Amino acid sequence: MAQLTAIRFHKTGGPEVLGAIRLPVTVPGPGEVLIRHTAIGVNFIDTYHRSGLYPASLPCTPGMEAAGIVEAVGEGVDHLAPGDRCVYFAPSPGSYATHRAVPGRFVVALPETVSDEAAAAGWLKACTTEFLVERCARVQAGDRVVVTAAAGGMGLLLCQWLRAVEAQVIAVASTADKRALALAHGAEHAIGYDAMAAEVRALTGGAGADVVIDGVGKTTFLPALDALRRRGLLVSFGNASGPVGAVDFALLAQKGSLFATRPRMFDYYATSEDFALGTSRVFAMWPKLSITIGQRYPLVEAARCHADLEARATTGSALLIP
Ligand code: NDP
Repeated sequence: MAQLTAIRFHKTGGPEVLGAIRLPVTVPGPGEVLIRHTAIGVNFIDTYHRSGLYPASLPCTPGMEAAGIVEAVGEGVDHLAPGDRCVYFAPSPGSYATHRAVPGRFVVALPETVSDEAAAAGWLKACTTEFLVERCARVQAGDRVVVTAAAGGMGLLLCQWLRAVEAQVIAVASTADKRALALAHGAEHAIGYDAMAAEVRALTGGAGADVVIDGVGKTTFLPALDALRRRGLLVSFGNASGPVGAVDFALLAQKGSLFATRPRMFDYYATSEDFALGTSRVFAMWPKLSITIGQRYPLVEAARCHADLEARATTGSALLIP
């Protein structure tokens, strides 16, 4: 029987809990597609599953997205055939492997113009960018939008997408090199974290930003609220520095009748209509996006990749190569 290699953890913890195992390749069940991965996208959420911040059933193979070649399709799958190039994101982990069977409804065929690596590095992140900018924050041309971790995988896509819809981006990143990268990807201004709120106010004539899109979480929550204009919107979509935790609801009133939301991708890609709407918009925007692959690691070095991601040592997207 054919074998696959997968990265697994049997208990939650640091990157060292990740190890490689060999398993039989499964046959796709009804509605499933068996994919031989050619490139696996790494997302910060993979570290949350590994650390235990987000629950995952053990043993767990992390990973939410990959690109590859269809090897076989289960009963009822008619939009793909063996040999097709494809990409997917899945609602449950399991992508850090040479092969994976995934529900066909999440798998899309790749046009010739999109490489496997670009797809694996950018698909989940571009779909997230789409829903954050267009359906969650509903950013308008001329809006002033703060993006934290602006040189990361999500950050560089947010900068580009926001620029494309004619918003003005104030990028926040920890080093001068990261800030230069954000500027090169469409940000109008780039600042550090230390005086984030004051600098945003200075750049907006004292008014504050219309929207803050923040994936850093714990350390930027209060500065983000302080950076907003009256009735501005905080979109808090991640926890790279740790979860925000309990929030005093009255803060929103004290800081100017603010709005705040904590969106998850799978509430915006919940139905087949959402999926069709979001992915068609991403394909329409794709030619305007440049996917920055900042690092590539062999699949079996997933632990090193996680350590780099958590040490803020990466830029753009990271890939695991089977
Ligand atoms: P990134 O490539 O952005 O890497 C994380 C970045 O966060 C770091 O490079 C760093 O940039 C910044 N950061 C700030 N503080 C810390 C810290 N204490 N430890 C580590 N990093 C820190 O990752 P992704 O693009 O994969 O993800 C970005 C965010 O988007 C994550 O929070 C993720 O959970 C979220 N996300 C949420 C989704 C949703 O549906 N809600 C979907 C997809 C992603 P710097 O050094 O500049 O601060």
